[in-house]
Amino acid sequence: MEKVIDIKHIKKEYQLGTQQIFALKDVSLEIMKNEYVALMGPSGSGKSTLMNILGCLDTPSEGQYTLNGTQVAKMHDDELAFIRNKEIGFVFQTFNLLPRLSSFENVALPLVYAGVGEKERKERTEEVMLMVGLQDRMNNKPNQLSGGQRQRVAIARALARKPKLVIADEPTANLDSQTGAAIIALMRWMQQNFKISFIFSSHDNGLIKAADDLIVLRDGVIQSIRRKPDGEAPPPAALPDDSGGSAWGSTPQDTD
Ligand code: ADP
Ligand code: MG
Repeated sequence: MEKVIDIKHIKKEYQLGTQQIFALKDVSLEIMKNEYVALMGPSGSGKSTLMNILGCLDTPSEGQYTLNGTQVAKMHDDELAFIRNKEIGFVFQTFNLLPRLSSFENVALPLVYAGVGEKERKERTEEVMLMVGLQDRMNNKPNQLSGGQRQRVAIARALARKPKLVIADEPTANLDSQTGAAIIALMRWMQQNFKISFIFSSHDNGLIKAADDLIVLRDGVIQSIRRKPDGEAPPPAALPDDSGGSAWGSTPQDTD
C-alpha cells in the first residue's frame, strides 16, 4: 500500500524564556493512502504540534519526515508552502472562514490561488458544496450559518483542490456532541470518496469509533497505536440522511 506519511524520530522543542518544552519527544509513525486516522490525547499532549508538522505548517527540531516520497523535514518556508498548497487540505477548530466572503467564495478561494479557470472552479466548488449538503447555502456568509454548517464549508474548502492529505485539528471542539459526530461521519464519507489520507485530532473518546486507526499521544510520545485489523473493510460511511437526492437530503440536516 502507498505510504503517504512516514515520520521517524520526530522531536519538537520550544523555548519559553529560560524554560525548554519538549512538545514531541520521539515520535515515529506511518500513515497509508486512503486511511482515516484519529489522533487522540489530552490537552497539552502534543496533538497540534504533531498536526502542524504533518501539515507542513511547522518543521521538527529533529527527525525525518517523508511526505509522498518527498523529504520535507528540513525544507524552507517557501518550499513548505508549495507542498502544503499542492498536497494538503486543512480543517480547523475555529473554521477559519473569511467573514466577508460567501460560502461559495470561501470554498473557491484555494482554486483561485491555484490558478484554476473560472468554469472549472465553479464546477468543482458546486460539486464539493453538494457533497457537504450546502448547495442551498452557497450565497450565505459564515455569520449566516450554524457552527456545523461552517465546518462543512471548511471541509468543502479543504477538499476542493483534491489534496492527498487532510489535517483536521480538533474539528469538533467548538460543536455540540451530536453535530461533532455528524462532522466526523461527513469527513469519513469525504475521505472515502476522495480516497485520501485524513487525520483528525480530538480529545473526545466518543468520536474514535469511526476511524480506521487510532493513535494516542501522551506527554509528547505515542502511547499506543491501534491499527484497523488486517483485511477488514472500513465501516460503511453512511450519512445521517441521504434520502433526498443530495448527500444530506433536500434540506441540510443540522443539529445545532
Ligand atoms: P495539544 O494540541 O495536544 O493540546 P500542543 O501541541 O498544543 O498540545 O502543545 C504541546 C506542548 O507544547 C504543551 O506543553 C504546550 O504548552 C507546548 N507548546 C505548544 N506550542 C508552543 C509554542 N509555540 N511555544 C511554546 N510552547 C508551546
Ligand atoms: Mg491542540
